[in-house]
Amino acid sequence: MSVTSPQEKPWALILAAGQGSRLSAVTAGCAKQFLPWRGAPLYWHAARAMSRSAAVAGLVVVFPENQLAQAEEQLRALCRNEDLGLPCLAVAGGRQRQDSVRLGLAALPVRARFVLIHDGARPFLSPALVRSVCEELRRGARAVVPALPVTDTIKLVEDGRVTATLPRERLAAVQTPQGFDLALLRQAHQHALRTSLAVTDDASLIEALGQVVRIIPGEATNVKITYPEDMALLQAPQMPLRPRVGMGYDVHRYGAGRPLKLGGVLIPGAPEVLAHSDGDVLLHALMDALLGCAGLGDIGCHFPDTDARFEGISSAILLDRVLEMTRAAGLTLEHADLTIVAQAPRLAPFREEIRKNLCRLLDLPKEQVNLKASTEERLGFTGRVEGIKVYAVVSALAAPLPRPHAASCGRDF
Ligand code: MG
Repeated sequence: MSVTSPQEKPWALILAAGQGSRLSAVTAGCAKQFLPWRGAPLYWHAARAMSRSAAVAGLVVVFPENQLAQAEEQLRALCRNEDLGLPCLAVAGGRQRQDSVRLGLAALPVRARFVLIHDGARPFLSPALVRSVCEELRRGARAVVPALPVTDTIKLVEDGRVTATLPRERLAAVQTPQGFDLALLRQAHQHALRTSLAVTDDASLIEALGQVVRIIPGEATNVKITYPEDMALLQAPQMPLRPRVGMGYDVHRYGAGRPLKLGGVLIPGAPEVLAHSDGDVLLHALMDALLGCAGLGDIGCHFPDTDARFEGISSAILLDRVLEMTRAAGLTLEHADLTIVAQAPRLAPFREEIRKNLCRLLDLPKEQVNLKASTEERLGFTGRVEGIKVYAVVSALAAPLPRPHAASCGRDF
């Protein structure tokens, strides 16, 4: 059994169908999975983590039945704005959580063999945890649940009186995503329907069938937003934005080829450049700086010059794609500083026009885009007017992904 081929990667069900009654007093009636956080509803952050894990084949988001139309419209807009690279379906949920899961399972493609079930109100999910659950399924588990050791002492209580103290070392607090062999989970839901079994997680249904549920270490950061006090987790500087810097460098040789374009601006009368794309050396250096900042390699690996699709392509189009990638990586671009080095042509007459166009392409105000032009005093290849080079430095703020607390994952289940 392997989940490496695309048809065997699990699908993920994101449950966003609850009414969130415990939170309604502080959210003005907005169900928690729709609360906006960092520019997107909570459930979208979980969808993003699923996509970044590269271990999931597609997503089904389960919404409240009475809000399906609006929620589906919102989901489509989110997908347009940030392509997760996965099929993303919306379906209506039911009255209880397990009804919603059952309806979500019915929407999965027939080829799906595994499924992950995740609470839409756990926005701090990490791609690493998604991968761990998938890995356990790959190893042959039919039901997998992330769990943390319990640190509080847990007591059974009836009518305000303690009736027992449970042995803490045998307790675990379970989380989602929970991973399942799809046929087994469907069977478990049918069994629950027949026997009117009501539970709060899917693993319980597997236990009711007498099947094994395997435990893997959960993440302390993978919190479910449940009570009003949990709202502070969304506001607190729990995950401060971190500064990032990227550096890019590019050279193009002069020769009979393409008219010189810098920052999308044509430079009339300048020497021509040899290039596979449009040869915009300024945008090339800028893209490499952006990719460096996002930790995503260089333009050579995304747009190889051996690929006919990029022959003569406008670098502004490629820049758009790179900007999309950096946004998807959680970066907010702050500043770009660019230095063109060329003996010829004279660039002073074009500097403001180029800078203005860069501001437009990067969607930054002019104080955050700086452009310099320099010569190398007739030294080297630029001095001999054999070519042109550009240095680019960009800075950005990055939202770090939540990391697991090593200490709380220390216990071996
Ligand atoms: Mg280049």
